This record gives sequence, structure tokens and C-alpha cells, in this order.
Amino acid sequence: MKNLQSTTTLNNGVNMPWLGLGVFKVEEGQELVDAVKTAISHGYRSIDTAAIYGNEVGVGQGIRKALEETGIVRDDLFITSKVWNSELGYDTTIAAYEESLIKLGLDYLDLYLIHWPVAGKYKEAWRALETLYKEGRVKAIGVSNFQIHHLEKLMKDAEIKPMVNQVEYHPRLTQKDLQAFCQQYGIQLEAWSPLMQGELLDNAELQEIAKKYNKSVAQIILRWDLQNGVVTIPKSTKEHRIVENASVFDFELTADDMRSIDSLNQNHRVGPDPDNFDF
Ligand code: NDP
Repeated sequence: MKNLQSTTTLNNGVNMPWLGLGVFKVEEGQELVDAVKTAISHGYRSIDTAAIYGNEVGVGQGIRKALEETGIVRDDLFITSKVWNSELGYDTTIAAYEESLIKLGLDYLDLYLIHWPVAGKYKEAWRALETLYKEGRVKAIGVSNFQIHHLEKLMKDAEIKPMVNQVEYHPRLTQKDLQAFCQQYGIQLEAWSPLMQGELLDNAELQEIAKKYNKSVAQIILRWDLQNGVVTIPKSTKEHRIVENASVFDFELTADDMRSIDSLNQNHRVGPDPDNFDF
């Protein structure tokens, strides 16, 4: 894990960058296009979007601008999107994938995820993802917001194991059991809201640790993700923060500091509970 281009190898052999840019709540428009372009020009290779974010068009524009300006090629990038709950089903999920590709202006995605484990729906959607994968139309497939019991149910009938599970993960929600389960089955854990949507940045204990390393709290948290073997996708639209969030490959947290950060866990969520959501 040396730099922004460093990758983890998923269970199907595909390489996924350890750190990427999230774009949740960023609306279509120039700010979005610039954020994506800026991130790629500063060395980011992974961008995480979703159909429900309503911003795939702008993400695609940012990608194309970056490719024009930097000389890197599409294959160097790792683009993720997600199928929304209303589209879960076999035909509807395949159609949703095609629509995401059209909006993004891409001919394949690197990773396509089931966004939420809607009961009674995610198995059919998974069959659709398996088809897309077997046809070579997507490089890797996975899930998001799946708890252990969702993964168990999915894998019981699945032909292909998910390569990734993207879940809420930060020092207030360390998800140790889920992480151990995912490790056991070779499913890469990925952290959403790694900065707890900004709420952790004034935490006194994290500020103490940050001072010792001459780093920001955001950098300490993102480094903690990486040292825990968790892929991370902090969101920012501001260039200086996009750069700051990526400057986490030049220091290492001690085992003691890793433990101190782990101990901040309160099983506290900022997002919906995957066992109790109604959308
Ligand atoms: P994050 O934890 O990444 O926090 C983002 C917030 O922190 C923004 O308000 C941002 O503001 C601010 N911020 C970012 N970097 C810094 C910094 N260095 N210093 C101070 N403030 C900072 O929250 P997200 O919820 O956006 O999660 C990240 C990504 O995860 C999403 O964008 C999305 O791609 C994905 N996600 C997936 C979900 C799922 O269900 N699968 C659910 C939620 C998110 P500013 O932009 O102004 O810099």
C-alpha cells in the first residue's frame, strides 16, 4: 500500500484501489464534474457513485475531462455504481445497469453493487449481476449494506460470491464481526461515510492522535481504514480536501493507536440500519 494507485486484489483477481472518491449528495453540475476531474488528476483512480445519487451524468463528464487532460486511459480507472431498490429484480436490474452505463457514458463498470438488501428482492437482483459478470460486461460484482445474515442467505443460492461489501464503517461503527465474516469468505469490506459525514472530525481523542503524527483527523481515520484492510471512499468536492484525504500513504499508525481508535466504537450509525429500513 504505497500510494493512491495501490490496490487490493478481489476474490476474482480484479484489482481495486484502496482509496477512492465518494460523490453522495453531490448534485449534477460543474462542482461535481470538477471534483471528479480534480480527483483523477491528483492520482485518484476509483470513483463511487450510485443510480440513486442522480449524478452519473456528471461523474461521466468528469471522467472524460480527466482522461483528456491527464492522458490516462479508461482501463486505469475503477468506477463503481449501484442498483437502486426499486429496480431490484432480474430484468429490471439488467436494465438499470444499462441505464447507468448510458448516463456515465461508459461501456463497462468495474464494480456494480446491490445498494440495499431489500428482503425478497436481492436474490433475483444477484442473479442479474451474475449474468452481467459472466457475460464479461462488468469486472466485479458485490453488495452494499449487507449484514452477515444477508450474506449467508445470498451465498446459499449464489453461483458467484460477492467480491465486495460496502457498508457504513468508521471509528464509531467498527463492524468487527461483519469484517471477520467477510474476511473468512474473501469478500472485501469497503467503508462508506468513513468520516462519519464529518461528525468525527472534532473528536478530542482523534485530535490528540492526529497531533502526534502531524496529520489531520480525516487522514488518521482514513489511514486506520487502510491498516484495517478496509477500502475507503471519502467524499469531498473541495480540491484541498481531495488532496488531503489522499495523503495517507506516508505514515503508519502504531498498534496502540489503532487500538485506541478501535475503542471509540459505539455501534453508532449515521445512516440507516440495514436490518430496519423502509425504502
Ligand atoms: P464522508 O464520511 O466521506 O464525509 C463527507 C463529509 O465530510 C462532507 O461533508 C465533506 O465536505 C467532509 N469532508 C471530507 N473530507 C474532509 C476533510 N479532509 N476535512 C474536513 N471535512 C471533510 O461521507 P459520505 O456519506 O459522503 O460517504 C463517502 C461515500 O460513501 C459517499 O460519497 C458515497 O460514495 C458512499 N456512500 C455509500 C452509501 C451506501 O449505502 N452504499 C451510503 C453513504 C455513502 P466537503 O465536500 O465540503 O469537503
